[in-house]
Order: sequence, then structure tokens, then C-alpha cells
Amino acid sequence: MLKALLCDLDDTIYTPASGLWPAIGRRITAYIVDRLGLDPQSAEALRATYYEKYGLTLLGLMDAQHVDPKDYLAYVHDLPLAEFLSPDAALNGMLARLPLRKAIFTNADAAHAERVLIQLGIRRHFTDIIDIQATGYRPKPQAAAYAVALERLGVTADECVFADDLASNLAGAHALGITTVWVRPSVDGPLPPGIDFHIPDLRGLERIVAERLTQAG
Ligand SMILES: [Mg+2]
Repeated sequence: MLKALLCDLDDTIYTPASGLWPAIGRRITAYIVDRLGLDPQSAEALRATYYEKYGLTLLGLMDAQHVDPKDYLAYVHDLPLAEFLSPDAALNGMLARLPLRKAIFTNADAAHAERVLIQLGIRRHFTDIIDIQATGYRPKPQAAAYAVALERLGVTADECVFADDLASNLAGAHALGITTVWVRPSVDGPLPPGIDFHIPDLRGLERIVAERLTQAG
């Protein structure tokens, strides 16, 4: 029976239409320009290379450039959130009704997650924030990251539902037996493997959880 929700943060808990995630991307490029002294074009290229090779730009910068992850995380998330996000009353209501323990599970850091949740007016619903530091810099979709999340919540994979906007993250969780929900405005064609449900908006999660709980009887 479902007991817990693991929920991604960026582009999942708020809509991609907010523009926040591309703004973070521009901060990542700016960080590489500032700290490594590259021109913007080379910084973009390096960012793409590291993302491809490591699955997360930060890991490439730590491994190949020895950057301080705390310096990076503070810099890339230093954005005026009120310009991107507003309190979400409908999401607040849905989370209040959802009969599960709720945790944020993000490859960003907890400080950014805290600020986003406060800006959306939904901080009170989440008992835990499992961030990239909590997993020892092992990001989703590495199996180790999910193991940390499940242990932290004290639940088994089959007691957990996970919502994320990236199919690759969901596939990693599905392989362990976690129920997976793909949150993105639209999907072309059939769902990729490793995804149990698709919803265009996180506010649709309530119906899926209710169905699963009813099935479990
Ligand atoms: Mg995301």
C-alpha cells in the first residue's frame, strides 16, 4: 500500500512555463564563465559535455575542475523566485488532502528547495527534503540516490510513489519497484518504459493516488 510521495522539485512542483529552470541554466553557464574564466560559448559547450558524461553538470565540475559544490549550488540558485513563482492554492489544497507522507527528492540543494516551497506556499506539507548533499552527490537516476530516499522515509519501494518531469529519473525508480508518475504538460506518442502514469500537472496526482489506494483495498 502506498505510504509516501517522493516529489522532484524543478519543473515538477511548478510548471515549466514559469521559466525558472531555464534561468537556473543561465546561472550555471554564468558560473562557468565567472569561476573558470571561459567565454559564454565555451562555457555552454562544457556544460553540455559534463551533463552528457556525468548526468549532472555539477558532478563534472567537481570531478574535472575541483569546484566547491556549495559555492556552485548557492550561485546557480541565486535568483529572485518571486519573479517566476506565485503561491499555488490549488496545489496547496491537493497536498493537504493527499494521504501520504511527502518528501522533496531533488538533484538541487535543500536551500533552493526550501525557498521554492515557501514561495509556492506549500512548505508545511513536506516532512523531508532529500537533496544532492543528502545522497552524497549521487544524483537521480543512480540507484544509490533512491536507496537513500527510501531509507530516509522508512518505506519500501512498493510503498512509494515518485513524481518527476524526467523520464530517465522515473525509469531508475521503476526498476526498483517504485510507482512512477511523469509530470509534463504533454507527451507525444506512447509512454516510454518505466513510467506507470502521465499527468500534465502535479495537481493531477490526487486521482492516481486515490486509485492505487482503492486497488490496494
Ligand atoms: Mg525536474
